[in-house]
Amino acid sequence: MKNTINWNFDNSYSRLSNVFKEHIEPVAVKNPELVLVNQDLAKELNLDFTKINKSDLSALFCGNILPEGSNAIAQAYAGHQFGHFTMLGDGRAVLIGEHLTNSNKRYDIQFKGSGKTAFSRNGDGRAALGPMLREYIISEAMHNLDIPSTRSLAVAKTGEKIMRENPLQGAILTRVASSHIRVGTFQYVAARDKKNELETLLDYVVKRHYPSLDNSKNKALDLLETLIDKQIDLVVNWMRVGFIHGVMNTDNMTISGETIDYGPCAFMDRYDPKTVFSSIDKMGRYAYCNQPAITKWNLSRFAECLIRLIDKNEKEAIKSATKLIDTFGEKYEEKWLNMMRKKLGLLGTDNKDKFLIVDLLTWMHQNKVDYTNTFCHLMNLKEYDDKIYNDNNFRNWKKNWQERLKLNDNNPKKYIKLMRSANPIVIPRNHKVEESLENAYDNNFESFNKLLEILKKPYTQQDNISEYLKMDSSSKEYKTFCGT
Ligand code: AMP
Ligand code: MG
Repeated sequence: MKNTINWNFDNSYSRLSNVFKEHIEPVAVKNPELVLVNQDLAKELNLDFTKINKSDLSALFCGNILPEGSNAIAQAYAGHQFGHFTMLGDGRAVLIGEHLTNSNKRYDIQFKGSGKTAFSRNGDGRAALGPMLREYIISEAMHNLDIPSTRSLAVAKTGEKIMRENPLQGAILTRVASSHIRVGTFQYVAARDKKNELETLLDYVVKRHYPSLDNSKNKALDLLETLIDKQIDLVVNWMRVGFIHGVMNTDNMTISGETIDYGPCAFMDRYDPKTVFSSIDKMGRYAYCNQPAITKWNLSRFAECLIRLIDKNEKEAIKSATKLIDTFGEKYEEKWLNMMRKKLGLLGTDNKDKFLIVDLLTWMHQNKVDYTNTFCHLMNLKEYDDKIYNDNNFRNWKKNWQERLKLNDNNPKKYIKLMRSANPIVIPRNHKVEESLENAYDNNFESFNKLLEILKKPYTQQDNISEYLKMDSSSKEYKTFCGT
């Protein structure tokens, strides 16, 4: 296909040996129909969709025609899924290439739901429209919340039915990521037990993501340390906005530090640390409050992959890696505390800060209060004067908070500004997401596009959006599904 779009492919991963991937093209679909395209993202990528007609664009985003310069592959990876190790790989995704922007930033362009690959096992390689739309809206919301995330460039219907419990409309999501290399990618290579393959992957990752480590004396150890920091930053961000990923398997943790794989994820409304939405997470392994511990668990699996690259002497290598993994707790605690200080507008540190924060969270938990809206109330925004905030315990807490606010030359202008930078006003509320997905499934994208628009400015007060700010008033428990 002629390049009218400005694709600028340079497919470095596909040049690695076949250990890392399978060359495969997307399987053509029956009746491509583009339903969403992300013009903002297209602009950021320096892509131009104005010179291509809709039918060609639909064919493109379904993989029926591949752009010039692409070199499609399915990537190999493994993963601990709910704690159990499995060899996986892209079973329903194809990386069509790496696009370079005008400023030489490199992005993977991947089709998700594009047909069977060598890694499909028993799956059909396809994806349903609902979950692809869900990934689109939540990943874009995360990006707009200033949280590192893969992005969504387009969703196209395939015109084919896919069989799940019921027949569903098939669709393909075009996912954009700084790469799709995962902890599970290292696990896959480590499991093959060939040191030179691991070295190749390590060198590739350092060059692509962390070039400043290129001259490091111990790349493996430094990469581990870097990833510990990146993943702590990420999970602290999730905790900040009440995001629950839902399926933090090691294959769903990127080496770039971007949030990936929007399956059963959802945002918490009532504050409850044990919140789980995913219907398959029966033990609560990936509950809101477990996310930091699971991050550490996943990083330990990552460290295991690197052992033989850290030191020839296995004992020494384990010692060095363990030392780094052991820093997790303290680092997380400090970053989490600082994040919560921001949410409360606190400058500097005070040794009672943790108590102040935990007291507020405990009060929210005991009274089943909305997490997002409590911070909006504290920021003095209009429409957050729920009577729950007249509660005596809350008022007492607020007095302590106001005392603490006075420290370090703080003033309302300063603390409100700080709070406004950390506390979203609007998050993707579960009932609004469901409502917009139901309508979109029936080909009415009005509410979907409206929600998408509102979620572009989560930290700004917007007019006439009060229904987007309330938690679901129905008593029904919210459940999410993997969408595979
Ligand atoms: P996920 O739950 O999306 O992280 O997927 C876990 C693994 O299952 C990955 O290797 C996917 O590629 C694979 N997978 C998920 N859905 C399908 C499907 N419909 N067909 C084939 N493979 C799938
Ligand atoms: Mg996955």
